[in-house]
Amino acid sequence: MTLEMTKTTNEACTKPIGHIIAGKMVHSDSGRIIEVTSPIDGSVLGEVVAASGSLVDQAVQAASQAFSSWSAVPVKERVQPLFRFKQLVEDNIAELSALVTVENGKTLAESEAGIRKGLEVVEFAASLPNLIAGEILEVSSGVDCYTRRFPLGVVAGITPFNFPAMVPMWMFPIAISCGNTFLLKPSEQVPLTPLRLAELLHQAGLPEGVFNIIQGGRSTVHALLDHPGIEAAAFVGSSAVAEQVYHRGIDSGKRILALGGAKNHLVVLPDADAQATAKNVISSAMGCAGQRCMAASVLIAVGPCDPIIDAIVDQATKVRPGQDMGAIISANARDRIVSYLDRAEDRGISLRLDGRKASVSGKENGYYVGPTVLDHVKPGDECACDEIFGPVLSIIRVDTLDEAVAIENASPYGNAASIYTASGADAAYFERKANAGMIGVNIGVPVPREPFSFGGWNHSKFGIGDITGMDGVAFWTKTKKITKKWSERHATNWMS
Ligand code: NAD
Repeated sequence: MTLEMTKTTNEACTKPIGHIIAGKMVHSDSGRIIEVTSPIDGSVLGEVVAASGSLVDQAVQAASQAFSSWSAVPVKERVQPLFRFKQLVEDNIAELSALVTVENGKTLAESEAGIRKGLEVVEFAASLPNLIAGEILEVSSGVDCYTRRFPLGVVAGITPFNFPAMVPMWMFPIAISCGNTFLLKPSEQVPLTPLRLAELLHQAGLPEGVFNIIQGGRSTVHALLDHPGIEAAAFVGSSAVAEQVYHRGIDSGKRILALGGAKNHLVVLPDADAQATAKNVISSAMGCAGQRCMAASVLIAVGPCDPIIDAIVDQATKVRPGQDMGAIISANARDRIVSYLDRAEDRGISLRLDGRKASVSGKENGYYVGPTVLDHVKPGDECACDEIFGPVLSIIRVDTLDEAVAIENASPYGNAASIYTASGADAAYFERKANAGMIGVNIGVPVPREPFSFGGWNHSKFGIGDITGMDGVAFWTKTKKITKKWSERHATNWMS
């Protein structure tokens, strides 16, 4: 298999960006062309020709054919390619990070961090044999009951632009180690990194057809969700799409887990360490240019917090677009962020730091917004409620922790929420009261690391369970419960 479209330079990308079916790169003739540009400088990287329904069907057939042999491989053997894949990703991490940076726009350090976080899921999935050894109990005299896990069949993953390697790696390592065969539908904005991952999986010895890639946007997602040969799909993206995907998939009889968007609140109490808090808050709000579902978006300052807020603004001024902070994914996304800031200004909200005019020397055609801090925002303002998905921190000031909790609780989202304080009692109170699936104490990006599962609450997730950890194993498998008796020699009762 040769994947010519995985180079990081523009001249490599003059051909259409392909799909991977049964280990071969194939091309679609749907005529639905999506141009892929690099956010760093606006240069064209290539064209995705969205998969047609018939190409999706071809991929499902290939995955279905691979399923019969893959699902019969004992789990201890099935995970062996994942060990080799992990090593290959590490061996190629500089090149992979560069690829993520070119198509997504984040800094190289951020790209590498995302890949390494994805590798933790690979490690988890590779240890599956040690995690699912199963349960057995003599439930009655001479009667044993035990459970076995079975894969579901052909399954799919639909992923967003913001972590081109990591979010797919939340899904396929666990799904395939559980014995499923997998179709990945990456974001049409970042189609190249997944192709490189496919190449490394192939080199690692994963049999053809176990991992396939179908490129495209909305219509390709619909073709996947409607296909009767797909048993389950995981989705990660915005809440509006997550909700639609959830219902459409459920309606066609699939198991669906759809993770959505976020509006994460950070509560700061006056006893928090000003410098440490400022660094951590700004790294959460401005990291990945604010394009993270775990990014800080609203800071709720409780009581006299001016020294901490000043330190936060000061810290934000040090973040240099194009150096410490990457680009925004597209011109449209940049313009959308700027429009929020224009309207905030029109409403009289104070822009303590205004990133609207950001530009990077030599990259004038790139899509940049600088670090932005809005102060004295009211809880009902749109910048306090909508997912802006950019490097924008809105500060709301309140008098009590209960007011802060009430504002956080009123959000329809519920991905992450954090508190900064020196008080264990206040932190414990917030931990219980915050209405979110992932809570941070003096940590602004409280991503649970493996083996803990990742997932939010409310409109940040549709479906049951989380996406990684043992919840991931539960999502990608079904259990069989076996009750067994071999002899009448034991005393019998009504249960045997
Ligand atoms: P998006 O919802 O626009 O796209 C996600 C995926 O859905 C892509 O593969 C896209 O092709 C597809 N898609 C887009 N519109 C569709 C439609 N109408 N019908 C069917 N499929 C459609 O999201 P994005 O802009 O790529 O990513 C950013 C969003 O993802 C943010 O809201 C962010 O919070 C969220 N996100 C959430 C998590 C999480 O764990 N909860 C993680 C990462 C990103």
